[in-house]
Amino acid sequence: MTFINKKILFNFFMTAALCLFISLIIGTKANAMTIVLDPGHGGAGTSGAGAFYPPYMEKSLNLAVATQVKSELDNAGITTYMTRTGDVSLDLEQRAAYAKSVNADLMISIHFNSSGTHTLNGTEIWTSLYGSYYTTGYSVGSNIMQQLTGLGLVSKGVKTKLGNSGDYYGIIRNGVALGVPTIIVEHCFMDNEYDRSILDSQGVSGLAHADATGIINYVNSVGGSGTSLAKSDPVALAEGATSNGSTEGVAVAPTVKASSGAQTSTKSAASTGSSISKDASGNIVFKDQNGTTGTFTPSEWDRLLANWTYTGNAEYYIKQVPVGDLNAILGK
Ligand SMILES: [Zn+2]
Repeated sequence: MTFINKKILFNFFMTAALCLFISLIIGTKANAMTIVLDPGHGGAGTSGAGAFYPPYMEKSLNLAVATQVKSELDNAGITTYMTRTGDVSLDLEQRAAYAKSVNADLMISIHFNSSGTHTLNGTEIWTSLYGSYYTTGYSVGSNIMQQLTGLGLVSKGVKTKLGNSGDYYGIIRNGVALGVPTIIVEHCFMDNEYDRSILDSQGVSGLAHADATGIINYVNSVGGSGTSLAKSDPVALAEGATSNGSTEGVAVAPTVKASSGAQTSTKSAASTGSSISKDASGNIVFKDQNGTTGTFTPSEWDRLLANWTYTGNAEYYIKQVPVGDLNAILGK
C-alpha cells in the first residue's frame, strides 16, 4: 500500500467517522421524547378547584404533583412541559393544542378523585380506546400504576371508557384528535379515609415520585429518552364533539382564560365577603364567602394554614373554605 493510498484511506475513515458523529447528534436531538404534564382544573375561586374536600383542593394538588414530576423528569433528561404552571383556567382544547405545539409524544393529565359517598377508593388510570393510543397509554399507565400501588393504593385498573364521541374523557379525546397519546391519572380519592391516610402520609412528594418513576421506567422500556414514539394518525373527533361531554378532565369556568384577567372576572363569585382581620386580643377573625364569621387563635390559624402550605399560597385557599369546614379541621 502506497503512502497516497494510506492517506486517502485515512481521510475516508475520518470523514465517515465525522458523518456518523454528526448523524448521531442530529438523530438524538430529532428523536428526543417529549412529555407534557397536564395539571387538571385551575382558575380563580373554588369553581376551578376540581374536587374539593378540605383541606385538599384538587387543582392545587394536581399542580403541586405535576411540578415535582416535571422536576424529576427534567433531572432524568426527559424533555417535559406543563400545560399550566399557575392557577389559571384552560379548556381541554387549549391543553391538547399546547401538547401538540411542543410536539409531545405523550400527555399525562394529573387528577385526584372524590365521590359523593366518600366510600370509593383506589387509583384509576384512563387511556384511549384507539389502537396505538391505547397500547401507549396502557403501557405508561401500567408503569405508573405499579408505582402507585407500591404506596398502598388499590388499583382500579388502567382502562378505557366509551362515550358518545369516542373516548369519553375530553382531554383524552382532544389529545388523540391531534395525534398525542393522552392518559388521565386519577391518583386516589382524596375524600376517602383509606386513600387519604396514604395521601397524608406520602404527601405530594411521595405520589409525584411514584409518577415520575413510572414514567421513567416506561421511557426506558421503549428505548430511553433519546427515542421517540412512533407517531400515529390523529383520531377524528366526532362532529360537534367538544370538551364538555365528560365530567372529569373538564376544565371549568371556560370563560376565564389564562391571560385575560381571571382574577377580575371571577372576583364577585369567588371572594365577595371573604376577609381576614385581627381582633384586639390578637385572634384571627375570618369571615367566609357566606358571611359566616369564625374566630381563631394564632396557633389554630397556623394549623389551618399548614393544611394549604403545599400550594404556596395558603391564605388564598383558606379564604375559599367555609368557616364550618375550618372548625371541622380543628375538631371544634
Ligand atoms: Zn379532576
